[in-house]
Amino acid sequence: MKKWFWLIVLLAGVVLPVHAQESIPISSPEDLAAIAENPGGDYILMEDLDMSGIDWIGPDFSGTLDGNGHSILNLTITGTGVSTAVTTDGNQKRYDSVFAGLFGKLENAQIRNLNLCNVRGVITTDQPCFLGAIAGYSMDSSVVNCSVSGELELRAHDRMFGVAGVLGYGVGSVEDCLVDMTLICVDTDSGTRDEQFLGGVFGMGFMTVSDSEIRLDAYISEHGYVHSGGLAGMMMQYPVAMDKASRIVRNKVDARITFFEDNTDRRAYCEPIVGELLLNFNYGILDNQQRLDKHEVKEYDRELRPEGCQNPIYSETVMLSSCDTFGYTEYCCQGCGYTYTDHYTLHSHDVKDWNVRIASTTEHTGESTGTCVRCGAEVTREDPVLSPEPETIPTAQPETEPSIPETVPETPAQVKGVKTGTILLIVGLIVAVAAVGLAIFILPHRSRGKYQEK
Ligand SMILES: [Zn+2]
Ligand SMILES: [Zn+2]
Repeated sequence: MKKWFWLIVLLAGVVLPVHAQESIPISSPEDLAAIAENPGGDYILMEDLDMSGIDWIGPDFSGTLDGNGHSILNLTITGTGVSTAVTTDGNQKRYDSVFAGLFGKLENAQIRNLNLCNVRGVITTDQPCFLGAIAGYSMDSSVVNCSVSGELELRAHDRMFGVAGVLGYGVGSVEDCLVDMTLICVDTDSGTRDEQFLGGVFGMGFMTVSDSEIRLDAYISEHGYVHSGGLAGMMMQYPVAMDKASRIVRNKVDARITFFEDNTDRRAYCEPIVGELLLNFNYGILDNQQRLDKHEVKEYDRELRPEGCQNPIYSETVMLSSCDTFGYTEYCCQGCGYTYTDHYTLHSHDVKDWNVRIASTTEHTGESTGTCVRCGAEVTREDPVLSPEPETIPTAQPETEPSIPETVPETPAQVKGVKTGTILLIVGLIVAVAAVGLAIFILPHRSRGKYQEK
């Protein structure tokens, strides 16, 4: 018995530290950006993040990112990463391509339990390029139990390019994910024929996609060859994927694809699950539910976009956030009724009493915590740097017993309330004085008038 006990203690001592290897916490947009400096690390998201106002260029990544059930709001992808990788088209031609997404290139990486809410981006490039909400490129990487929503647009013209809801190009797996994306792909040069790829999950490659739900609204304006599908634009077991297997199983796809293919040598691949299947050996496509609303346009002079009006005027409706729902603004075109949402806002709680954990000074910010009176959540807020104030006249009170409430910095709302109160008091006094003045001077005049009438 004792021997077993000590053996277990010894094993625990050896094994536990390895498993308990601490993930690097991410609590701010700055922390998320710092992944670029240590792209092989293991990370865990500690808070929902609002990425509004940040131009994001996805770093390459080869570690793990556990979203911990949290959400990244309003990620705006504004450019491609600097590194390239070889992509192969259906004719086995190879191109050095660039990539864009939350990450540029994934290699042996895992992204799990993460929600990308309202990811946005318009990528304009002169190179072969793949864009995906999670990553532009995947090599042996997996995306598990994640959700993505938003709108991505790729504007390219060089030989081979594509856009996807999750991963642009490559080899990997996507499991138990929820995709709700609007994708736009525009070939900006009508003079050359290029290969264009678009899919709700991946654009081109050889991947496993299982138990996922995909809602796709896609718009393709292409003067070369279209490869589009509700789940994938094209699936091909290209050379680097020869030892891999692919299973497209138990997915639910609901797609609308609006496209033109301005090309007399027509292919126009547009299918509910995979646009074009080419040279696949070890794969299976089973038990998927699918619905495709395919809408081919035969006019090529105008880009296809979700908004039909040339100069749309939108009405805006702001939906406020609550304890457990994000806020957002709904935009509705007054001409055609096209509606989209943008500018999501983080959960907002109702805290009455704040406890200062770190008092803010004139040099640095402070931190307070409190409990939401609606849902009971523990909420942390940053308190602003104090504005330097003139020296106060020392009071007779001994400095050794400052009362706690005095050290609690007022919230901006409270400060505003106090100021408003003071102003109201002064205004009230002025009104009172004026009223007395009126009573003294005007009323007797009125009375006099009446007497004169008599
Ligand atoms: Zn409109
Ligand atoms: Zn709450």
